[in-house]
Formats: sequence, C-alpha cells, structure tokens
Amino acid sequence: MIEQSCTAVLASPIVNQLMKIDFVDLKAQYASISQEVDDAIHRVVAASDFVLGKDVELFEQEFAAYCGVAHAVGVDSGTSALELALRAYDIGAGDEVITVSHTFSATAFAISATAARPVFVDVDARTYNMNPALLEAAITPRTKAIMPVHLYGQPADIDKIARVARQHNLLLIEDACQAHGASYQGRRVGSFGDAAAFSFYPGKNLGAYGDGGMIVANNESVAEKLRILRNCGQSEKYKHVMVGFNRRLDSLQAAVLRVKLPHLDTWNDARRNAAQLYNDFLKDDERVVTPNQGENRTHVYHLYVIQHPNRNGLLANLRDHGISAGLHYPTPVHLQPCYEFLNVPRGSLPVTESFASRVISLPMYPELTREQIRFVCDRIKQFSI
Ligand SMILES: *Cc1c(COP(=O)(O)O)cnc(C)c1O
Repeated sequence: MIEQSCTAVLASPIVNQLMKIDFVDLKAQYASISQEVDDAIHRVVAASDFVLGKDVELFEQEFAAYCGVAHAVGVDSGTSALELALRAYDIGAGDEVITVSHTFSATAFAISATAARPVFVDVDARTYNMNPALLEAAITPRTKAIMPVHLYGQPADIDKIARVARQHNLLLIEDACQAHGASYQGRRVGSFGDAAAFSFYPGKNLGAYGDGGMIVANNESVAEKLRILRNCGQSEKYKHVMVGFNRRLDSLQAAVLRVKLPHLDTWNDARRNAAQLYNDFLKDDERVVTPNQGENRTHVYHLYVIQHPNRNGLLANLRDHGISAGLHYPTPVHLQPCYEFLNVPRGSLPVTESFASRVISLPMYPELTREQIRFVCDRIKQFSI
C-alpha cells in the first residue's frame, strides 16, 4: 500500500478538513511496478519492435488465457474493439444493435461507426445494467445483435441476456471495457459472447500508458478476420483481402500490459476491499444508495457509484474538501446532441434518466487507503442538503 500525500491546512480553523484525494491515482500504481515497467519499455525500444511485435502476440495469448477464451486480438482502443467485433460479424447499414443508454457514449458510437443503428433499452434499477426483461420488446426484424455493458465493473445479467439472444438467433457482443477480471457464476466476462471488447485506457482496471484495446472470441475464423481488419485488411504484406483499418495495438502498450496483467486480480481485490469499506462507512446515511451486487457474480469496481438526492451539491462540497468525484454519466447517450436524429424522446428510458441526475462516483483505485475512504465518507455524512 502506498500512502497518499495528505495536505492538512494546519493554520486554518478547518484543521484536517482538507485531504487531497484524486479520483484515480496512476502514479501510485506506477511506483509499485516501476522497475518492471521501465525494463519492459526499454526492451521494446532497444529491439525497435514497435508495431504488432512480439509483446503484442504474447499479451494476446496471456489475455485470452486470463479470460478463458481461445483468441484475443489487440487493437488501438476499446471503441475500435467494439466496432471491429461488430464488423467481423458483418453488422452494418440497415442493422440494429440493442444496447443501453446508461454507458459511456463509445458503446453506441461503435455501433454507429458500422452504419448500424443503436437501439436503447433501460437498465435495471438495482444493478445499473441492461434489464433483460425489456429486450424482447426491442427486437425487430432488423435486430442483429445485443450488446450489454458490464457497467462499473459488474457483470450484466448475462445468462438471461444470452438466453434471449439464442432464442432470437442474435449475436451477443459484450462491452467489457470496464470489467477486466469480473466473473459471472465463476466464469470471466468476455467468455460469454460471440465476441467481447476490452479497453486499456489508462484509468481502466487494466490500463496501458496510452490507448489500447482487445477483442476476445472463441471463433477462430472471426479472430482471423479481426487480425486482417485491424491491420489494413492485409492477409499478408500488401495483399489486401478486405477494405481494412489501421487499428493495431502497439508493442510498447502490450509490454506495459504484460507487466500489469499478473497484478490485476490483486488490484481487483483491493478495489473490492475499498468498496466494502465505503459500504460500511456509508450505511448509516439513509440518503445514500450504495452499490448493489447481483447474485452469482464478482464486481471489480472500476467505479464506485452511489446515488444521492443532491448529487450536484455533494460533488461541489467534496471538491471544496479536496476530493475529486466524478459523474458516470451526467447525460444519457440517447439525450446527447449527436443522437437527436435517433428521435428517442426524453422520458422513454426513465431509470437511465433518473440515474443521470442522481449518481456520483467516489474516488476508486487499488491503492486507496482506509483513512482516505473514511475521510470521504465523513464528508458525505456531514454534508447537509
Ligand atoms: C472506456 C469505455 C469504452 C471505450 O474504450 P476506449 O478505449 O476509451 O475507446 C467503451 N465502453 C465503455 C463502457 C467504456 O467504459
């Protein structure tokens, strides 16, 4: 554990009332693995093995094994991973993909990038994840796939969602960009769908030192198609069998991720411990709704999200005490200006829309200390509406 620097304003009447607590602290994590990371980066640079190098190949194998799937294909971002997964199954113009609006907008952008149409269903009021009971009503003759998001690090209700997908002969593509290592009935997310996408954006549970992403799949021909699509449509050098993209994962990122992957379970455990401390400290404040965990699943707490009736006031109050909190997400995707053309009216996704004004994400990272968590919770409890 690395203690955070703690800035007490000694000369002021609010002694010990200010403690700078970042929302995420990537420097603390780097400090714990810096020698290994520096060595790995140096190795890639010394070998000038920059694009789709040895480390990419090895990381793909290691990440596939970690997820319990046959294949993994490294790409340049989580957004690319989602888009290429859809393209590998020939989803495009005229097709519909059912997803959620309570997510990071990239989920829907990946669908739009293929020229397919995102169709939104509301989320479950307890778990924040796709409500499987609403899927049937959203299916049309144009529906090709269901894309649930394992939001905040908690697996979606994947059994029920997969059942609907099977019954209607639809593809299941998991957006696992926030849920590296989370499991459902003992199986890791990413292993349930026809494909799944992960993001290695620096702040994710497994983060690179820049952008990165991965598609995992069990189907060998799909994996082969993904390797071609991400590499300019080439099956071999200068033989372009598809109109492709440059969406490769680079070796420096893969080398960093290879150092980090063996630590992921320990880091996820630390996040769960932090979440438990938050739950304990906050349970006597009846204004606060702490996260619920669904049955048979492990949550990896990419984000620790509570609901509060005066979310905006609380956010400002925490900031005044040196605490960085976040909003995930303040505007649902269907109400974003860029999606006006979809004509999904306000009021059509009531649970999603109510979350947008009530949720607030508290600092969360593996190195967070008990003292810091207590400080955040004390501030929340002392905040009067
Ligand atoms: C981060 C994220 C993405 C996009 O990943 P990038 O690597 O930033 O492109 C997609 N979906 C969800 C749910 C995410 O959290």
